[in-house]
Amino acid sequence: MITWQEAHRSILDQAKPLPLQIGPISSSSLGAILGDDVLADIDAPPFDKALMDGFALSGDTSAQSDGWPLGDGVYAGGIPGKALEPGYAVPVATGAPIPTGADRVIPIERTEKINGLLKVKELPGIGDFIATKGADYKAGDTVLKRGTVLCPSVAGALAAVGKTALRLIPAPTVSVISTGSELVEPNMKPMGGQIRNSNASMLLSGIHRAGCLPKYLGIAPDCAQALRNLIAEGITHPVLILSGGVSVGEKDLVRATLEELGVKIIVHGIKLKPGRPFLFGITPGGGLVFGLPGNPTSSLANFDLLIHPALLALRGYRNPGPHFQVARMEESLIVDNNRPTLRPVSVCPTNFGYIAYDLGAKGSFELGVLTRAYGWLELAPGRVEIQKDEEVRVLVPELSAVTALLLQTT
Ligand code: AMP
Ligand code: MG
Repeated sequence: MITWQEAHRSILDQAKPLPLQIGPISSSSLGAILGDDVLADIDAPPFDKALMDGFALSGDTSAQSDGWPLGDGVYAGGIPGKALEPGYAVPVATGAPIPTGADRVIPIERTEKINGLLKVKELPGIGDFIATKGADYKAGDTVLKRGTVLCPSVAGALAAVGKTALRLIPAPTVSVISTGSELVEPNMKPMGGQIRNSNASMLLSGIHRAGCLPKYLGIAPDCAQALRNLIAEGITHPVLILSGGVSVGEKDLVRATLEELGVKIIVHGIKLKPGRPFLFGITPGGGLVFGLPGNPTSSLANFDLLIHPALLALRGYRNPGPHFQVARMEESLIVDNNRPTLRPVSVCPTNFGYIAYDLGAKGSFELGVLTRAYGWLELAPGRVEIQKDEEVRVLVPELSAVTALLLQTT
C-alpha cells in the first residue's frame, strides 16, 4: 500500500489545468486564473487629474500679493473650458481634468477666500496633488500577468482597462454519487437499517468551496446496474467523486464497475487513518475519478487531503497544496496509531499563532466533532506523545486554499 504523499503525486500528475475558455467576467469568475496577459487599452489616468478638491494654479506668483482671482471651476466628468490664464486660479474637484497651464493643485483646506480672491499661505510644490496622464500605466502596458488569480482588485483592474471578457481557466464540473443501499436523502426519515446521506451534502459544499461546480447525481444502491448507470453519467464530467462502496466488502462494487466502464485505477488503498480505502482512477477521456470510503470522517479526510488540491490544480493553481500550518497543541496528547493519521482538531488563530485543540475523536464515524472550526492534526504512525505547547502540523482546508492563492501570485 502506498503513502498518501505517493497518491498525491500520482493525482497531481494527472490533474492538469483545464483548457482555457473565453468568457464574460462576472462575480462568479472569482478565483479563476487569467489565461492571458492583460494590456491597458488607454493611459491611466487618461488625463492629468486633480487628486484633491481645491484650486489648480501655476507657480507664477509674481502678480499675486493680494490673492488670486478665480477662473471657472472644473468638476469630475467636466472638460476645462480654456487654458489657465496666467495669474488666475481655477477651482477643481477631485477627479477633474487639470486645465493646461496649471502645474499644481492646492487643497481647499489650505486656502482662504477674501473679497473674492484666493489667499494661499504656502504654495504647494510643482506637480503636487496632480496625477499625471499615464502615471499609473500607459496604453499597451501589461497590467495583469497570465496566471493571476481573479480576486476583487483584479476584477477592478480588468474593468479599468475595459476587459469584459477574457480567456480563463474554467472551473471544472465535479459530479458526486453516493453509493449504499442503506442511504436515504436528508429530507427522508430513515427506517430500519437506513441512514441519511450526509456525504453528498458534505462533498458538494467542499467542491463549491474549492471554486468548482458541484453536480449531484443521486444515490446508487449497492447494485451493479444502478451503479453503472450513474457512473456512466458521472464520467462525462471532468471529475467524478463517489462515496461508499470502495472497500473490500461483497457489496463494494465501485471499483469493478468503474473498470467495466473503462476507468483505469491508479490508486486503491493508502496508508492513512481515516481514509484507507481511497481510490483514484482516470476515465478513458482523461477525467479524474475518486472513490471515498462511506464513513463521513474518512470521506472528508480524503477530500481535504487529496481531492481539494486536485480541484485547485485543475483550476490552474501551481501550488495547490495540501498546505499544512504550524500550530501549538493546547494540551498534551498521547495517541497510538498503526498508520499515519489525520486526527480531527479545532484550530484557532491567536496573537501567538495557531492553537490546536484536540477534539477527543474516537472513531471515524464522529462527524459531529468536525462541526467546529476544524482541521486535521498530522500524526506519524506508532505511539506519539505531544507535549502542551509543542509545535504540530495541521491541515485546515480554508488556510490551505488561501496559501495556494498567495503562492500563485508571488
Ligand atoms: P462503505 O464505505 O460503503 O462500506 O460505508 C462505510 C460506512 O459509511 C457505513 O456505515 C455506511 O453506512 C456509511 N456511509 C456510506 N455512505 C454514506 C453517506 N453517503 N452518508 C453517510 N454515511 C455513509
Ligand atoms: Mg456501502
